[in-house]
Amino acid sequence: MKILSGLNLEEIQQITDELGASKFRARQIHNWIYLKSVKEIDEMTDLSSKFRDELKKVAVVTDIKIKVKQVSSDGTIKYLLEFPDGECVETVLMRFDNRSNLTACVSSQVGCAVNCSFCATGKRGFIRNLDYKEIVEQVLTIQRDTGLKVTNIVFMGQGEPLLNLDNVLKAMKIFNENFQIGARRLTVSTSGIVPKIKELAELDMQSTLALSLHASNHETRLKLMQIESKYDMTELHKALKYYIEKTGRRITIEYLLIKDLNDTMDCAKELAHYLKDIKCNINLIPYNPTAKNDYQRPSNNSIMRFKSLMEHSGKKVTVRLERGADIDAACGQLSGKAKA
Ligand code: SAH
Ligand code: SF4
Repeated sequence: MKILSGLNLEEIQQITDELGASKFRARQIHNWIYLKSVKEIDEMTDLSSKFRDELKKVAVVTDIKIKVKQVSSDGTIKYLLEFPDGECVETVLMRFDNRSNLTACVSSQVGCAVNCSFCATGKRGFIRNLDYKEIVEQVLTIQRDTGLKVTNIVFMGQGEPLLNLDNVLKAMKIFNENFQIGARRLTVSTSGIVPKIKELAELDMQSTLALSLHASNHETRLKLMQIESKYDMTELHKALKYYIEKTGRRITIEYLLIKDLNDTMDCAKELAHYLKDIKCNINLIPYNPTAKNDYQRPSNNSIMRFKSLMEHSGKKVTVRLERGADIDAACGQLSGKAKA
């Protein structure tokens, strides 16, 4: 059985060719999959029922199952999706009230090998990479289930996208070409895999790179993220400069704020110094509690104090709104399990 979701037009044409149908049929099927987000071949009503029956013998729309769906009081929807091999990942749809943007937060791996101390995903260890179709399927599932069109995609679910770069790049190409989501509306977030950042720089894409920096010095980052022992902040700084020079793009620096650990005024000053020659926006992420550590979220006052100190350094600073915390859908709370 062929899975239609995730195929490009040429691949769909191979199927219609084998069935002796015209190229136009392939275009129709492509539209039903990507623009109308159907669940079943029988919903493709501009195909004759005879042709639909033939198609059903060789193909299905999808083989992904929605195992759990949770809707937060703020409208965020979290899906636990199951693949045929029984592995599950989460995908989150976020709506921001004041904008028409619908942002899908997709997973790139089952589990994650990077194992940052604050993150629920890392605690599971690495299970496997998702292939590009499984990444694409997450967005299609959201569109099928809600009937809405996703406008922005962030690779901020489970997994380290730069450790599965081939599949991530293929999925981005499909989002771009088949979903018609502009590259500027795609964001890849990384814990800082230096050689892969350089590889991305060479590709010179229009998408946004977000770096999870989370600390203003080596010692603090090492406590939070083991990856700092492999690719440290000095190396990262060089890689970021290279990326910005090559692409001309502004990057996003993600900075997790943890009470008394990296939220002090000294940290803000140190961070401003580290970023002074890096063309970036800063996104502050107040820590979301996960069961397995004793970090705490700073008070709103210290979040605002940190923000204004960073603004004094001339950068644009935003504080990430917490979405879906009541259903454990907020950053770092995705564990890939029905119950955490
Ligand atoms: N692996 C990639 C992308 C997935 S994580 C990365 O680490 O960048 C997406 C974002 O959520 C990252 O910035 C990550 O550091 C952050 N995050 C992880 N755990 C968190 C937590 N408990 N509270 C808030 N943000 C968290
Ligand atoms: Fe992996 Fe990102 Fe979680 Fe770190 S924060 S363990 S890199 S998913």
